Amino acid sequence: MAFEVTCRDFVQFLDDYLAGALAPDQLGAFNEHLAACPSCVSYMKTYRETIRLGRLALAPTSEPIPEEIPEDLVRAILQARRRA
Ligand SMILES: [Zn+2]
Repeated sequence: MAFEVTCRDFVQFLDDYLAGALAPDQLGAFNEHLAACPSCVSYMKTYRETIRLGRLALAPTSEPIPEEIPEDLVRAILQARRRA
């Protein structure tokens, strides 16, 4: 292994990790850390979910509508838009 990744490193470079911006040897070290560190795994999951929800909130209206929204509500919103 090229270098040891600590939890602090992981958090600090998580953005790059998820963006695929890490060098291959860094990526290997990060993956090794993930394999051995459940708390970083759960941190990453939370982080990804936060990004996903953030994108969803900012998404243009042409994006697919999340399934958990009731269809009646969706129809009502679409009708209100057409009227506007
Ligand atoms: Zn860790």
